[in-house]
Amino acid sequence: MIIATDLEGILMPEIWEHIAKETGIEALKITTRDEPDFVKLMEHRVSVLREHDIKLPDLVAMAHQVEPFLATRAFLKWARTKGQIMIISDTFQEFADHFIDVVGAYNLFANRFQVAPDGTILGCNLRIRGKKERVTQSLKDIGFFVVGIGDSFNDISLLKTCSFPILYRTPEEVTTQFHDAPRVTNLDALKATIEALPDEPNGNCGA
Ligand SMILES: [Mg+2]
Repeated sequence: MIIATDLEGILMPEIWEHIAKETGIEALKITTRDEPDFVKLMEHRVSVLREHDIKLPDLVAMAHQVEPFLATRAFLKWARTKGQIMIISDTFQEFADHFIDVVGAYNLFANRFQVAPDGTILGCNLRIRGKKERVTQSLKDIGFFVVGIGDSFNDISLLKTCSFPILYRTPEEVTTQFHDAPRVTNLDALKATIEALPDEPNGNCGA
């Protein structure tokens, strides 16, 4: 089994929200809820950061202040006994690498910044945005049973392509797209839902 989960909103709070609060820059408060086009959103963020001369090390320092949710460590430790954990996120590797080390060195697949030698952010290498479904589909194609966990619009494709979707505090517009998927509101309920699954429900070889 592979447990493919989103990061922010499930295992930790939203990093950009924290950065907006820390910097006090109003223009950084815009999220995917205000600008659903992620490329445009990131172009906006990059230009605001440059305007205020905020460089990558400044951002990374702020991102490192974001703590995991209280139950995150215990949940991940338990989940690892059930299968491989893949954290598939639209965040940036530079923001979340530290978090991943803190919670126990799991696999993180995220985007990456393009940075000048002096730390100025020039742009992004968006590897995950709009491609979450390719990761889950590929894992399924080679025979893995993939539990998908998502909390927002950018997780819809992951939830639709995985073997067993679990909705984590999703907004109504997402929930209505998944009639049969379990809905959970905390990590304990998520654990109970995964616990109830058979270990290898899609065995495809044997007598
Ligand atoms: Mg999320």
